[in-house]
Amino acid sequence: MPIQWINKLSKISRQKSPWVYHVNTGACNGCDIEIEPCFCPRYDAEQMGVLLRGSPKHADILLITGPMTLRTFEAARDIYAQMPKPKAVVAIGSCPATGNVFAGSPTVLGSVEPIIPVDVYVPGCPPRPQAIMEAIQQAVQLLADGKTGRKQGISS
Ligand code: SF4
Repeated sequence: MPIQWINKLSKISRQKSPWVYHVNTGACNGCDIEIEPCFCPRYDAEQMGVLLRGSPKHADILLITGPMTLRTFEAARDIYAQMPKPKAVVAIGSCPATGNVFAGSPTVLGSVEPIIPVDVYVPGCPPRPQAIMEAIQQAVQLLADGKTGRKQGISS
């Protein structure tokens, strides 16, 4: 099969069924608990083709919760590097944006941005599942338009 067809097929697959990987870099688990219902029957992201995967090597979109910490930043950077291009990053909650309540701790670096480029921020502590779903859809659109790497935000 010609490479152009493979690329076109990959692009269509990514749009129709983006695969998502979730990493917690130091969250209190409040945001993680809000991600769960997105993939359960109530909000059911799978009906839109969004699948949660167990490896960053298979993921198009990275969901990050929590501030970046001294203990997690190397692993987070490694996880991001393992994702194939094109890729998008959704930062969920106030912690990955600013460090939030953990800012100032000697073990917390703060925002994830110096380590991992964020495409969509979801404000809130924690944000609601609807806002997370909207952010994933926004990330899918950015991937389709080839516009990852520019910061976006959604209202929660
Ligand atoms: S944004 Fe709030 S709920 Fe989410 S990890 Fe930080 S402190 Fe917890």
